[in-house]
Amino acid sequence: MASSDGKLELRPLGNTGLKLSCVGFGASPLGNVFGPVSEHDANASVLQAFRLGINFFDTSPFYGGTLSEKVLGKALKALGVPRDEYIVSTKCGRYAEGFDFSAERVTKSIDESLARLQLDYVDILQCHDIEFGSLDQIVEETIPALQKLKEAGKIRFIGITGLPLDIFTYVVDRVPPGTVDVILSYCHYSINDSTLEDLIPYLKSKGIGVISASPLAMGLLTESGPPEWHPASAEIKSVCRAAAAYCKEKGKNISKLAMQYSLSNKDISSVLVGMNSIIQVEENVAAAVELVDVGKDDETLSEVEAILKPVKNQTWPSGIQKS
Ligand code: NAD
Repeated sequence: MASSDGKLELRPLGNTGLKLSCVGFGASPLGNVFGPVSEHDANASVLQAFRLGINFFDTSPFYGGTLSEKVLGKALKALGVPRDEYIVSTKCGRYAEGFDFSAERVTKSIDESLARLQLDYVDILQCHDIEFGSLDQIVEETIPALQKLKEAGKIRFIGITGLPLDIFTYVVDRVPPGTVDVILSYCHYSINDSTLEDLIPYLKSKGIGVISASPLAMGLLTESGPPEWHPASAEIKSVCRAAAAYCKEKGKNISKLAMQYSLSNKDISSVLVGMNSIIQVEENVAAAVELVDVGKDDETLSEVEAILKPVKNQTWPSGIQKS
């Protein structure tokens, strides 16, 4: 059996040449999206993540109305390490005040993000939740604007994010090959919903890197449950609650099981999990290391899959609805 030697695995991201830690640090919690997080806890979480081998940090101007970018920027600076030792992605087009994927807005947005992050460039700039905009505008206006930012050296790679999976093929099929470097999908490669799997061969064939976010289904697969704003149906929430309670009763942790489930697919370059404490960082890194050294708990996983079966692959609406 392969051994981790206690190290977090690095995985290539499509054709970018980047190697991302298989566990990525989702910084939306640093924008107080899942409840208040002190600056001390935010800094300590980022520091511990980096120490344990996490090199990939994701944020957005939308998270906490720019707070996440500011807090992450400060914490990364405090690491005091060369810039090429960590990989940062942020986003554009979604803001506290609404969506705007115009070339003018995203071009201004990157300068604002770089200032908040205290960086000269970001590794990846992603159009954030494109299902809320016009996909044709993304193809014809937003991505060409991002290409100019690439040429200007403000960003290294271009990505798109969102919930429905068909948005990715729509855009990738309509831009020149190699234009979209990365896609970020969320809530579609967790124990309760694994529909991203069907899209992976297409993305691989195009050399597009795959980041899968929200392995804990934005809190559904945690003992404490999801936040108030979680968009899942009452049925999904109640079935996931039952699964979490079952694990707890058995002395198991549903979040660890969920992390290991997502990490098991090696075509996913990084499993992006939102973290706001040293304990969560340590637990999620340990889950990845243990997966390599020991393997996952297949018995509990199949029991949990059986509990989740009634809602398997059920999702919720997102974006401008098609009539
Ligand atoms: P997630 O599934 O990662 O869940 C995060 C929640 O789980 C938080 O409340 C966190 O505190 C908690 N948690 C983390 N580790 C835990 C552990 N070991 N035990 C118990 N609870 C734990 O959902 P997320 O944060 O929404 O997604 C991860 C990241 O992915 C985000 O922070 C963001 O960077 C990115 N993301 C991007 C998009 C997009 O671009 N549209 C959408 C969703 C997420």
